[in-house]
Amino acid sequence: MKRLPMSTTHRERTCRRCGVIFLVLTEEDAQSDYCPACRHLLPPPGNIRGQVRWFDRRKGFGFAMTTDGRDVYLSRHQLTPADARQVHRRALLSFRAEKGRHGWQARDVHLLQLIPPE
Ligand SMILES: [Zn+2]
Repeated sequence: MKRLPMSTTHRERTCRRCGVIFLVLTEEDAQSDYCPACRHLLPPPGNIRGQVRWFDRRKGFGFAMTTDGRDVYLSRHQLTPADARQVHRRALLSFRAEKGRHGWQARDVHLLQLIPPE
């Protein structure tokens, strides 16, 4: 990670999402309006967020609901093997939604956060 000049390393910023004050320690901090924690939960550019409605680990597929209410097919082949072993109902994901022959499908899926069981 590139080091910033001394004058900017002690700068403080306020997160636009949660309002927490964070220190600008990296180039990424300097360019983002969000604190590192919120940044972790926000989808990368071009991706959207969703929540798993159900996922059958044995069969390797399930469905997620996007934040704008679309039902998206979720295949384990679009997850890393480690994420595919952990993904469960209510987990938060980021992905690209692509319209396929059988409706919306999630591509390049990233597991953002596992939610404790209900
Ligand atoms: Zn924040």
